[in-house]
Amino acid sequence: MKTHVLSLTLEELGERLAELGMAKFRAKQVMEWVYQKRATTFEEMTNLSKGDRAVLGEQFEIFTSAVQRDLVAPDGTQKLLLKWPEEPGEGKGGGLTECVMIPCDDDQCDEYGNTVVATRRTACLSTQVGCPVGCAFCASGMEGLQGNLTVGQVVEEALRLTHKLPREGPGHRLTNIVFMGMGEPLANYAVTVAAVKVLMAPWAFHISGRKITVSTVGLPPQMKRLAEEGLPVTLAISLHAPNDELRKRIIPWANKISIEQIVEAGKYYFEKTGREVTLEYIMLEGVNTLPEHARELAQVAKKLRANVNLIYYNEVPELGFKRPSGQVVFGFQNILRSAGVNVHVRKSRGREIAAACGQLARQDRRGAALTVNGR
Ligand code: SF4
Repeated sequence: MKTHVLSLTLEELGERLAELGMAKFRAKQVMEWVYQKRATTFEEMTNLSKGDRAVLGEQFEIFTSAVQRDLVAPDGTQKLLLKWPEEPGEGKGGGLTECVMIPCDDDQCDEYGNTVVATRRTACLSTQVGCPVGCAFCASGMEGLQGNLTVGQVVEEALRLTHKLPREGPGHRLTNIVFMGMGEPLANYAVTVAAVKVLMAPWAFHISGRKITVSTVGLPPQMKRLAEEGLPVTLAISLHAPNDELRKRIIPWANKISIEQIVEAGKYYFEKTGREVTLEYIMLEGVNTLPEHARELAQVAKKLRANVNLIYYNEVPELGFKRPSGQVVFGFQNILRSAGVNVHVRKSRGREIAAACGQLARQDRRGAALTVNGR
């Protein structure tokens, strides 16, 4: 079986090449072709000898997925549905995952007061096929967990999205990563951490750890372990309810993990890393959007000194939850703000797709007509 080159670090590839009788430094050239020059075959790597290219082609593969769907929304948001090969071995059990690229070009002022365009290209990545958590409002969890992705597969999502960007000029590379696609990243812990390291590596994507967000439903042991990794990533906790009783109704894992335990692990993360934690809160009309919910959420946020992101729900027809009006969301935001919480409402585009993650894969499995959700 060929080795997925995207699953290897520079060092590991060097070792493998040495075992195959090639010079170790060739690994740097190979990685440059793969990550910077966007080669899709070893044949394109013209600064390597024909013999070396032939050996590489026999031993390694670059892309292992098939692009099942490739959709672009009018605002430039790009969504790919990837089909993984049905091979034995962890993460090779087939299945579909989604990844999304969200473009954002904001006018901002630099330190001299000049208007500059801040160009962000954010990739939202999946870490599992399906999801073991099974939140009541989410399409990804509807059929449970079908498998874990490998490091190479998570990295491949980011590389596939990079290939959709122009080769040069503004917006030619991914600048931000959010692990908010299908799956619970901290339930595939080792893969998530290894993928973060590749995303940060100068020989690969060279993305600052500060621009990488790992989102979790709240797994305290893994949150604490992540705090010890020495990675400057942002931790986002998908809280979605301000008390345990309500949380248990919409997030099955809340039956075994309390908000108090999550807050304690979040505090630990902040103390160890100095990085403020973010609370994600999907607004579900009439379920978690009442004024008393906002007041309770403010208490949780203050205990944790966390920022809060309010996210408009993207409806999944079979699930029956509704998206609230802007009036409800901004009223909710005002209560948090008055309580002294740093709170933002997410623009209804990229993050909204992340919230709706799993819908495309589900539609595809069921052979339904495809739409880009609400965009
Ligand atoms: Fe899993 Fe996140 Fe969906 Fe919950 S919202 S089922 S944690 S993918």
